Amino acid sequence: MKIAIIGVGKIALDQHVPAISGSADWELAATCSRHGTVDGVEAFTDFDAMLEARPDIRVVSLCMPPVPRFDYARTAVAAGRHVMLEKPPGASIAECHALERLARAQGVSLFATWHSRCADKVGAAKAWLADKTVTRAHITWRESVRKWHPGQDWVFEPGGMGVFDPGINALSILTEILPAPVHLTSATLEYPANRQTPIAAQLVFTGNTSAEFDWREEERDIWDIEIETEAGKLSLHEGGARMVVNGVTASTEEDAPLSGEYPRLYAQMAELVQAGAIDMDLSPLIHVADAHLLGRREVVAPFDF
Ligand code: NAP
Repeated sequence: MKIAIIGVGKIALDQHVPAISGSADWELAATCSRHGTVDGVEAFTDFDAMLEARPDIRVVSLCMPPVPRFDYARTAVAAGRHVMLEKPPGASIAECHALERLARAQGVSLFATWHSRCADKVGAAKAWLADKTVTRAHITWRESVRKWHPGQDWVFEPGGMGVFDPGINALSILTEILPAPVHLTSATLEYPANRQTPIAAQLVFTGNTSAEFDWREEERDIWDIEIETEAGKLSLHEGGARMVVNGVTASTEEDAPLSGEYPRLYAQMAELVQAGAIDMDLSPLIHVADAHLLGRREVVAPFDF
């Protein structure tokens, strides 16, 4: 199937282009971006013009930040195109619902992707936990915003999500693997004095579940989830690429941690389009919204890239 990437920036070039190139399901037929291009691929700068000129492209993958994404998604769905959304699927819950209603009315596929759910060991963790009772769960998600979002000021603008941009990846895994759902009860959000979104957050959920997110970790990425059950402890490391159950590390066939995430997302999108289905799970975004509804705000040192 022919597909177009809309919003050619960091994640499009790092992950989407290689995943499409490596897939037998997809052909990258065009891009649409105000500045970015992909070598050898027809490039548009105006989305309406692309939709008009390329009726043969039935699927678009939207890779821009969340705030501008809704207008592109609505335009694509209204034009009868199937739409794949980078995470988070929107800047608000209501706009995601609006998009889903529109997609159902138009009879097109809509996929709210959560790339971390496609990490190598997430499926195995879910299977192991399926018949267990969770007694405690804790997420530690610490990384450097300078490393992962160099100079991207949008992450600190309203709708940019701040540290929830990576934190929602952890929440997408948690909501996938827990055998029973939890909900947020309190939170502390740390806002740099010069910014609009938090740089760190601590979350408390029902079910003895908690999370700490921090974007000021310059030493190394720490993407860990620890889950205790009546039958022992499971932990996921490296964003779900490595799993340890009761002290035993599960084997992995992946040569690079997380290399399978985007190829699996594109395989899932191919299945959704073929089935005419919609996958619009918003549960990670609901936790983020609840953190903002219930969170206590603390002002911390200003942050500049
Ligand atoms: P980015 O490089 O800052 O933005 C991607 C592209 O979107 C930009 O190059 C820009 O292309 C276009 N864009 C930006 N603002 C726009 C606007 N107002 N209107 C239209 N187009 C606009 O961001 P990114 O890091 O790729 O992240 C994009 C999405 O991917 C985010 O939702 C993020 O959470 C997700 N993601 C990022 C990473 C990562 O490591 N960075 C990892 C996984 C997922 P043009 O200027 O050419 O139009």
